[in-house]
Amino acid sequence: MKSDSQSCKRIVVKVGTSVLTGGTRQLSLPNMVELVRQCAELHHRGHDVIVCTSGAVAVGRARLGFPDLPATVANKQMLAAVGQSRLMLTWERFFEIYGIHIGQILLTYGDVESRHRFLNAQDTLNTLLEHRIIPVINENDAVATDEIKIGDNDNLSALVAVLANADLLIMLTDLPGLFTADPREHPDAQLIREVNVIDENLLALAGGSRSGLGVGGMATKLQAAAVARRAGADAVIASGTEPNVITRIVGGEALGTRFPALDTPPENRKRWILAGVTHTGRLVVDKGAADALSKRGSSLLPAGIVAVHGTFDRGDTVAIYNEHNGEIARGIVRYTSDDLKQIKGCHSESIAERLGYTYGAVVVHRNDMIVL
Ligand code: GLU
Repeated sequence: MKSDSQSCKRIVVKVGTSVLTGGTRQLSLPNMVELVRQCAELHHRGHDVIVCTSGAVAVGRARLGFPDLPATVANKQMLAAVGQSRLMLTWERFFEIYGIHIGQILLTYGDVESRHRFLNAQDTLNTLLEHRIIPVINENDAVATDEIKIGDNDNLSALVAVLANADLLIMLTDLPGLFTADPREHPDAQLIREVNVIDENLLALAGGSRSGLGVGGMATKLQAAAVARRAGADAVIASGTEPNVITRIVGGEALGTRFPALDTPPENRKRWILAGVTHTGRLVVDKGAADALSKRGSSLLPAGIVAVHGTFDRGDTVAIYNEHNGEIARGIVRYTSDDLKQIKGCHSESIAERLGYTYGAVVVHRNDMIVL
């Protein structure tokens, strides 16, 4: 933990669908009331608590009596629209028992893409917390289209941790943490207590494991942990049904799998870079460039780029991947995707020749980049 366990913290509690439903097709009210009781306890002790809730689609489906619908985007969005209000009603009723007000925020990447909107979302979150209102956040599933969609609430919760400048992100799921193998198939799998490096081996380990109704799995939890710890927050994956799981983790107990924060929280502009990446812009770089970015703090030059995915403009935030599909950095790009398709793999001197113009030798400057 960054600070001692007695001081007040800002905590994001991410509750997966598997915990909210207890593995059934409906909300598990006993599970929810128990989570609310713990959040209320922390709130009353002076901590800032933010809840990141899943379950809109699952609740919508239950509310409409499990209709047999084609799996279209519009149908899913309809289920989310129906379920989201019901989900909020349930959280609201339970927090009311403890005299706590809640406020709903529904986000997509579109809400943090521009610096202006990022600051706006940050203001809303901070104002709720200043008024001792617990923000309850979900993705805006009813309107999120592919370009702006976060897609899973693990990555959403990391985004919230970045926005809120959180100290701790707790991701509650139906497993006690990250294991050396999927414990449902390998009974001798060991719980990994602490992770300090999220590398390709670990991502491969997490690759296939997912739980029933939710979207995420261990892989998205690792992505979220990588972002949260880079933003200066400890991340923990733990079982949502472990007794007093939230209060015990905040009290400093070693429950689940912990990913200690990497360093001091970055300044706000870099937080925005961390948060503002869309799925649309992605650069793949060769090993030389990956090492230069990760180990030597270099800027990214066109020579190291092997592939350009998606459509983006100069000034957009892109994700930078190594050749093994591991995200290594995020940064503001100085060339459009069309430009980069023409200059990838080239020496910087030939940019002007190829494009007929140049914005300089660098594609992503290290001052505009955050390494994961
Ligand atoms: N936002 C989705 C929902 O509320 C859940 C996504 C997830 O399970 O990660 O239904």
